[in-house]
Amino acid sequence: MKLTAFNNGYCTADKKYINKKSESRIIKFPATFFYLEISGIKILIDTGYSVSLFRNAGIAARLYSFVTRVKCDKDADEVLMENNINPDEIQYIIISHFHPDHYGSLKKFPEAVIICSREAAELLYSGKMSRIRNLVFERLIFKDMEKRIIKMEDFPEIKISENDFFNILNLNEIYGFYLEGHAKGQIGLYLKSLNKLMIFDAVWSKENLYGAEPRKILKKIAFADEKKYESTVKKIKEILYDLENTAHADIEPVITHDEKFLRSPYEF
Ligand SMILES: [Zn+2]
Repeated sequence: MKLTAFNNGYCTADKKYINKKSESRIIKFPATFFYLEISGIKILIDTGYSVSLFRNAGIAARLYSFVTRVKCDKDADEVLMENNINPDEIQYIIISHFHPDHYGSLKKFPEAVIICSREAAELLYSGKMSRIRNLVFERLIFKDMEKRIIKMEDFPEIKISENDFFNILNLNEIYGFYLEGHAKGQIGLYLKSLNKLMIFDAVWSKENLYGAEPRKILKKIAFADEKKYESTVKKIKEILYDLENTAHADIEPVITHDEKFLRSPYEF
């Protein structure tokens, strides 16, 4: 089992929003996606941004990229090719949540089966206004998404030390769970053999897990349900604690916009 992180761009923001005690400093947030190879199965976890989000895009997409000051000049498939990974061989794409820095390059992988939560899938088929409000842009998703998706909930549910997971692809290696608050239907992943807990956008930096409070305004803007921020952070810490006790090993929380992923590729 091998995990590598790549990015195909970044946005910028002031660090003081992520940690209200931090000094004002402009930092880059990489649009990270992950390549996972396990028993010959090739999986992508998220797909980073899309170049087409900015070129000839609709007003909502352009506004999004302007406000978040996005930089992206290649799609995820190109990044993979540069790193000797054939994008046509990707069999599955797990989408943590449908924000443009996570599903942007999805259409570059027309052969892959998509895995996401039921709530995330339902968002794709909801009304136009609801999709726009939740940053699901028409031009970035397939017209027949319904046929391409396997829902996380279609896999067997299992308990690992009191926590509920879904055994994705029945591999006994990738376990999905709910991460409420940031985006509709966001999921996290526990990668068992690698001792990683992927928590995507539940927090912006590791400091947030250990007490650093983001500013209220950031929670308001970046969280679909800001009230769930604290309970989700608490849940992550409990899961980490339980899994570390079960695995007798340190479990590394993996956060999408961690500055360390500005280095691409990043080998774990
Ligand atoms: Zn997000």
